[in-house]
Amino acid sequence: MVAVTYVRDIVASRAFYELLGFREHSSGKADTSAWLALHRDGHYVLLASTRPPLDIPQLPLLFYFWFDDLDAVVGVLGVARVEVTHTGHPPHALGGEVKVLDPDGNTVLLGQRERSAWQPPAADDEASPRFSLLKEAAALVEARGGTTVMCQIGDVHGEPCGKRAEVKLADAAGDTVWACLAHADEILVTVRGSFIASQDERGIAWFLSRRRG
Ligand SMILES: [Zn+2]
Repeated sequence: MVAVTYVRDIVASRAFYELLGFREHSSGKADTSAWLALHRDGHYVLLASTRPPLDIPQLPLLFYFWFDDLDAVVGVLGVARVEVTHTGHPPHALGGEVKVLDPDGNTVLLGQRERSAWQPPAADDEASPRFSLLKEAAALVEARGGTTVMCQIGDVHGEPCGKRAEVKLADAAGDTVWACLAHADEILVTVRGSFIASQDERGIAWFLSRRRG
C-alpha cells in the first residue's frame, strides 16, 4: 500500500518528510503535475502536486507515524523549528505522542508505542491536552463560523439532547446528522461505517447536477 497526499509545494513537503526520516524512492514530472515517492522502514508516502494546485481542505488527521525513538525525531523537528505539540501518553502511545502540521496545514501525529527504558514515567497525562479527532473536526467547523444547529440526537425517551451541535456525521447509507461531541463519539464507536462529514465536499448531488447541466 502506498499512501498518497496532494501537496501544494513538493519541495517544501519533501523537506518536512525528510525530517521524519523519509528518503526519496522515485520521482516524476509532467507539464502540470509532479510526484515524489518517499520511503521509510518499508512504508511509502507518495507526494503529488498539480498546477494549478488542487483546493484541498486541511485535514484534522492526515497521517499517523510510529517511531521507536520519538524524542529523537522531536529533536530533529525542533532544530528545524517545526512547532511540536505534545499530546501526552495515551494508551496506544505509552512512549509519547506529538502533533505537527505539514506544510499544507494538515495534522500529522507521531507516536511511540512503548515507553523506552530511559524515559521517566509519564506524570503529565492528566494535564496534557489529549489529541481528539472529534475536537479537531469541531475546531474546523468553528473556524468557518460555527453552527447554530442543536444536537439532533435524542435520548432513549426521545428527549432532545439540548447541546449545540459541533460536528456533522454521515454513514454509508447516506444519512447525516449534526451532533454534540459526546453523541458524535457514541455514534462513531457504535455505528459501523459512520464518519465525520466534511462541510466542504460537494458530494454526489453536485456530481449529478453537473451531468444534467
Ligand atoms: Zn447531543
